Amino acid sequence: MKTIIEPFRIKSVEPLRQTTPQERERFLEEAGYNLFLIEARNILIDLLTDSGTSAMSTEQWAAMMRGDESYAGSESFGRLKRAVQDLTGFRHVIPTHQGRAAERILFTVMCAPGQVVPNNTHFDTTRANIEFRGARAADLLCPEAADTQARLPFKGNMDAAALERLIRTEGAGRIPLVMLTVTNNSGGGQPVSLENIAEVKAVASRHGIPLYLDACRFAENAWFIQRREPGYADWTPKQVAQKMFSLADGCTFSAKKDAFANIGGMLCTNDDRLAEQEKDLLILTEGFPTYGGLAGRDLEAIAVGLAEVLDPDYLRYRIASTGYLGDHISSHGVPIVQPPGGHAIYIDAGRMLPHIPRSQFPGQALAVELYRHAGIRSVEIGSVMFGEQAPHELLRLAIPRRAYTQSHIDYVVEAILEVNQRREQIRGLEIVSQPQFLRHFSARFRPL
Ligand SMILES: *Cc1c(COP(=O)(O)O)cnc(C)c1O
Repeated sequence: MKTIIEPFRIKSVEPLRQTTPQERERFLEEAGYNLFLIEARNILIDLLTDSGTSAMSTEQWAAMMRGDESYAGSESFGRLKRAVQDLTGFRHVIPTHQGRAAERILFTVMCAPGQVVPNNTHFDTTRANIEFRGARAADLLCPEAADTQARLPFKGNMDAAALERLIRTEGAGRIPLVMLTVTNNSGGGQPVSLENIAEVKAVASRHGIPLYLDACRFAENAWFIQRREPGYADWTPKQVAQKMFSLADGCTFSAKKDAFANIGGMLCTNDDRLAEQEKDLLILTEGFPTYGGLAGRDLEAIAVGLAEVLDPDYLRYRIASTGYLGDHISSHGVPIVQPPGGHAIYIDAGRMLPHIPRSQFPGQALAVELYRHAGIRSVEIGSVMFGEQAPHELLRLAIPRRAYTQSHIDYVVEAILEVNQRREQIRGLEIVSQPQFLRHFSARFRPL
């Protein structure tokens, strides 16, 4: 059979609320044309993020009832620790309430002002936590990724030669660790090959620098490797993931992505001395090392999610359904970042709306139009978010895990194609008010 189906049936449902075009126009006005400021109940299909928005399984809910809420020595932590060690091989597993808490602890312990931390592309919280320490976050993405239209298998790879040059110019002593983000979230959910992980590890090791994975989407990355990289066709996604982790010295992890949990994170390391310091900080701001800012039931949900995400039927469906959206709209002429990534489709709004200059925010204009037309929420990744540094004017459609069915996605496809047909009529926006930092969350706009 060719048809790829959702590999689950639905036991508990959450109603979606339809709104009228008149209502949506009013919500847009009230929100200053910023979709972050629209109430979730007024959104029909929410593609704002894949973070913390997964549907949990019956096994996860059942495990939550088993949650051991003991302050110290919780059995739930024991179960999570065994699951993580089986997958990653890392000696120390430190639970945190989110990925960014793991990042803050890691960089506080490992980084000093004036140092540099390279990555393929830093996620925004990773970059912010490094800069908050007074260090510099360097993006060393492979040059092929600059062309959004190039259909290459591993556009998340790091430029290993650029890493070697950076280490030589900065000096190894100023680079406390190298990171690789799998898949590369900010770069369109593009995967990193095992060959590249090994190459980066070799460069870092030669200079005595540890390699950490930002492993939020490790399972989606493992699936791409299994499908695309020569030599792994017979491997299970779990074996590929184990191989990925075996090349690293530690990882940070947000359980809100590939662990299907609504909250949670982790910091792992093989370094005993660092782990002691990290646990001291953890106690200060997150909690005792056997719960780290989470309830016992959350630890259970993460432990079960880590096993479920590596199910080949799930990963096949997951990657196929993201590609389904991307391929359907691009085959009708909507320009997207190619090839489709693991967790999101990025429309190149700069190309789609060439009549709207960057100063009038084509990505934001498209986000507003898609909500106005069909109640769909997406997010601008362009000049609103990054100011003049934005490399492209993109609109991200992130797909929550196991939450929407193919008919929901068909509705999204239809809405995008209808908006595309009358794209010349879409007008830009101007900013009427904005905060000093992270303006995309609360800026207000006016249509031109
Ligand atoms: C989400 C994410 C983080 C941060 O995790 P939170 O749980 O949101 O704090 C870090 N890195 C990447 C690549 C992410 O996608």
